[in-house]
Amino acid sequence: MSISENINIIKNEIGAKSKLIAVSKRKPTTAVIEAYNAGQKDFGENYIQELLEKKDECPEDINWHFIGHLQRNKVKYIAPFIHLVHAVDSVRLLKEINKEAAKNNRKISVLLQVHIAQEESKFGFDVEEIEKLVLRDKAPEIYEHVEICGLMAMASNTDNTKKIEQEFYSVKCLFEKLHEVYPNIKELSIGMSKDYKLALNYRSTFIRLGTAIFGERS
Ligand SMILES: *Cc1c(COP(=O)(O)O)cnc(C)c1O
Repeated sequence: MSISENINIIKNEIGAKSKLIAVSKRKPTTAVIEAYNAGQKDFGENYIQELLEKKDECPEDINWHFIGHLQRNKVKYIAPFIHLVHAVDSVRLLKEINKEAAKNNRKISVLLQVHIAQEESKFGFDVEEIEKLVLRDKAPEIYEHVEICGLMAMASNTDNTKKIEQEFYSVKCLFEKLHEVYPNIKELSIGMSKDYKLALNYRSTFIRLGTAIFGERS
């Protein structure tokens, strides 16, 4: 099936529940343009260099989401234009984004990455660390040039549906707790090609799909 057919099918499935981010990493600019022509405006990238190259070649009204692990020394390259940084996983990164946003006279929207999967290699804060950062240290009130607008998480890469649902449930509970105190915390970025149908049942507001739209990556 074509990219535009995939997008239309997925958009019908998700309806108004969640917003679709097309993850175009390691796919050519032509694929981005094809998706754009099918009405897709939000794209996710994981690598700075690739993002900068595509941004130059693509329509200006695309919302670029940085969904990968972001190194502090790279923040300056995307600070002028990035729409949303999904995977803030340390206070030092939060501070750096705040600093670069100030230099660019803007406020940058970010999500805090929560570590919910079992794999050791995955980045992110623990649930307790997020509670401390947001509820005790009041991060949403501290960083003037950062808008903390939600949470992002990746479930374990497994076929065990129960396990994935448990992980989504834990991040949903955390999300609701924070949202009660800070209504601006309203986005929950959970769900990838393999598990987005489950994520939709756990209040996902952004799903990040690569393979389901563009096919397997080489
Ligand atoms: C690659 C990637 C995705 C998309 O993965 P698919 O399985 O191809 O949908 C989503 N989120 C993050 C953080 C990624 O790195």
